[in-house]
Amino acid sequence: MDMVEIRSVGVIGAGQMGSGIAHVCALGGYDVLLHDVSPERIEAGLAHIDQALSRQVSRGLIDAAAKDAALARIKPAAELQAVGGSDLAIEAATENEEVKKSIFRALSPHLGPDTLLASNTSSISITRLASATDRPERFIGLHFMNPVPRMNLVEIIRGIATGAETYETAVNFARSLGKTTANAEDFPAFIVNRVLVPMINEAIYTLYEGVGTVEAIDTAMKLGANHPMGPLELGDFIGLDTVLSIMNVLYDGLADSKYRPCPLLVKYVEAGWLGRKAGRGFYDYRGETPVPTR
Ligand code: NAD
Repeated sequence: MDMVEIRSVGVIGAGQMGSGIAHVCALGGYDVLLHDVSPERIEAGLAHIDQALSRQVSRGLIDAAAKDAALARIKPAAELQAVGGSDLAIEAATENEEVKKSIFRALSPHLGPDTLLASNTSSISITRLASATDRPERFIGLHFMNPVPRMNLVEIIRGIATGAETYETAVNFARSLGKTTANAEDFPAFIVNRVLVPMINEAIYTLYEGVGTVEAIDTAMKLGANHPMGPLELGDFIGLDTVLSIMNVLYDGLADSKYRPCPLLVKYVEAGWLGRKAGRGFYDYRGETPVPTR
C-alpha cells in the first residue's frame, strides 16, 4: 500500500471538536479545509478558532505571527466533496452512526486514491464505519480529546481492516501535532470513554436518586477524588447528547444492563438541555456564572 505524506487535512463537522482539530492541524503547519452541513457552524467554528488562537497568544504559548499563519491555512469548504482532495479527511460530525456512515458514503466517490480517512468518534465501531467506505484499509479512529488544543492525548483505534501503514501514518500525524497517542482496540467506547462516561452516568443517577445535589456531587468529586471538573460539569462540557449516545453504544454493544443510560440524562437531552453548547444542561450558562438547574 502506497503511503502519502500528509500535507492537507479536511475536517468534517465544525462543532467543538472539528474546530479544535482544525485549529491544531493549522498550527501544526497543515493546510486545512473545514466543512459542516450548516454554513453557520463553519462561520462559528472559524470565529471560535480565532478566539482560541488569540487566547494562546495572550498566554504566551504562540506568537501573533503563528496565529496569523494558522488562520491563513484554514479555508471553509461549503461542499463535502471539496474535502475529498485532502491527504487526510477527519470526520468530527455528530455522534450518530447513521450520520457518520452517510457522510462516508457521500464522500467516497470524491476521494483521491491515497486519501486516508479517520473518524473522531467517541464510541462507534471503527470497523463498522470503515465498512461504509471504499477503503477500510485506509480508515482509522483518531480520537482527540476536548478541548483539542489543550488536551495531550489522541486515542488511536484500528479497525479490523486498518493497514499497518495507515496506523503508522496516523501515529506520526498525531505526534506531529505535539500529542501523545494511546492505542485502543476497537470495542465500544474504546478506553477513555469506556471508563469516563459510565462515571458521568453514575453521577447523574446519584442526582436522580437524590443522593446529592448538582453542587454536592461536583464538589464531592472535585475535592474527594481530585478531579479538575465535577462529573456533571464535565457531562455539560462534553455535551449531554454525546454522553447519551456513548451510553447507548456501550449498552447495545456490550449487552450489559450496567451501562443503561440514566432516565434523567435522557430527559435533559429530550429537553434540548445539552450542556454548555446549548447554554443549559446540569448548569445554566446564560448568566455571569453557571447556576445548577436542579
Ligand atoms: P458538536 O455538536 O459540537 O458538533 C457536531 C457538528 O457536526 C455540528 O456542527 C453539526 O452541524 C455537524 N454535522 C452534523 N451532521 C453533519 C453532516 N452530515 N455533515 C457535516 N457536518 C455535520 O459535537 P462535538 O462535541 O464536536 O462532537 C463531534 C464528534 O467528536 C462526535 O463524534 C463526538 O463523539 C466526538 N468527540 C466529542 C468530544 C467532546 O468532548 N465533545 C470528545 C471527543 C470526541
